[in-house]
Amino acid sequence: RSRKPEPHAVIVPFPVQGHINPMMHLAHNLASNGFIITFVNTVYNNSGTVKAHRKWSSELGEAGNERVCFRAIPDGLPEDDMRTDFARLARVTETAMPPSLQKLIQEINDEEEHQVTCLIADFFAPWALDVAQQFHIQTAGFWPGIIAAYALIYHMPDLMARGSIPSNGIPKKQEMVKYFAHMPSLCSANLPWLIGSEADKEFRFQFWLRSISRFRHLRWIVCNSFHDLEMDIINTFPKEAGICSIGPLIPQTAQKETETEKEECLQWLDRQKRGCVIYVSFGSSVVLKEKEVEQLAEGLEATRRPFLWVLRGVEKFLSVAYLERLRERACMPSWVPQARVLSHPSVGCFLTHCGWNSTLESIAAGVPMLCRPCVADQFLNAAYVVDVWKIGVALKTNSEGIVGKIEIEESVQRIMSSDEVQENSRKLKKCAVDAHARNDIMVGSSSINFNVFLNAMKTNM
Ligand code: UDP
Repeated sequence: RSRKPEPHAVIVPFPVQGHINPMMHLAHNLASNGFIITFVNTVYNNSGTVKAHRKWSSELGEAGNERVCFRAIPDGLPEDDMRTDFARLARVTETAMPPSLQKLIQEINDEEEHQVTCLIADFFAPWALDVAQQFHIQTAGFWPGIIAAYALIYHMPDLMARGSIPSNGIPKKQEMVKYFAHMPSLCSANLPWLIGSEADKEFRFQFWLRSISRFRHLRWIVCNSFHDLEMDIINTFPKEAGICSIGPLIPQTAQKETETEKEECLQWLDRQKRGCVIYVSFGSSVVLKEKEVEQLAEGLEATRRPFLWVLRGVEKFLSVAYLERLRERACMPSWVPQARVLSHPSVGCFLTHCGWNSTLESIAAGVPMLCRPCVADQFLNAAYVVDVWKIGVALKTNSEGIVGKIEIEESVQRIMSSDEVQENSRKLKKCAVDAHARNDIMVGSSSINFNVFLNAMKTNM
């Protein structure tokens, strides 16, 4: 063993893209500050993550990336399972993964030069904290979403005492509720744990409760958000809640696009006029109904504007005639390097499902949003985009629960011509950049928080 121990962090994300990405970014930041990292994947997602990491490292040439080591353990599901059901994945991983993680840490401690000194667990992988306890190492939590959603679960005892949320987490009435003074109103049916399969509502709520009961005792909850963005809600937490915002964490790790797709879409963007393109994407898992895809296609065509639409499987709902007609005006790949697309000067707005990563990427690029939330925390994210930050417009669903053609056409017109939304987006982009500033003039809030966290993890080894 080396005489001088080095800090060695085990990072455990919930095994889906939107959680792996920001935790990977955190891993890179720690690695370039002297940490050795063991990043725990599942056997299912390991090869994709490793590939993306290699691509990212070689493109950015970042220091310390060779200090990130990937290890894969089984998630407990059969190989051919699509892993799209959150509750099922949470349920299975919770039992299948802890023994393998325990074995993995034991192996590292027995065989590697540097023993594990701390573990960072995703909110949706709280079982990793129990494993860490067996090794008496430091622990920290990671919250991958909007801090406002964490506030809902953290302040649950108060919310229940006030009668705002019933004890099973499932409100009887569907109504607009202002859960906190500083939070926009949210429809009670859209609380983050409610949306998804009906049968699992209660399980999801219990899972959140179980997780918060562990997270409550942690000294550090590292959050992918930044102070200026959620100042009001951050101020509702007592100091001991450990909220430590270090975002936006925007990694380039979801690179599923082929080289051809990447080149084609970026070159296509180069040929468009500044601020004119509508970028359309629904993240990595939301699937729209056929009827909505058709309405979206017609709505986009009716705007007469160029658009870049990540189809990701919905091309089967579009006619050959449509694809042919729009060949010049639109670019429709199956995956794009989103962070790069959003920062391209041709992009004028983003029609999005408001996944937290997409929302942050849009904020960081200063691109206004057309919001079509579908599941989980997306409704809360959208409420912030529209009502608090005023950097977007909500797309209204009709009586069939879908967004119609006219709504698309009119909303695009509205957002593209709104000086207020454009101006607010520019201002918030500056705040996002400033959060990471580290120069003679200023050190941003996320830089400060990250440093404090880093030093604490280094000193208490
Ligand atoms: N993404 C991408 N290319 C695409 C579509 C998505 O790189 O064509 C990335 C996007 O940049 C974001 C992530 O996939 O980092 C999606 O995460 P988000 O939280 O927005 O949504 P989720 O996929 O979890 O619903």
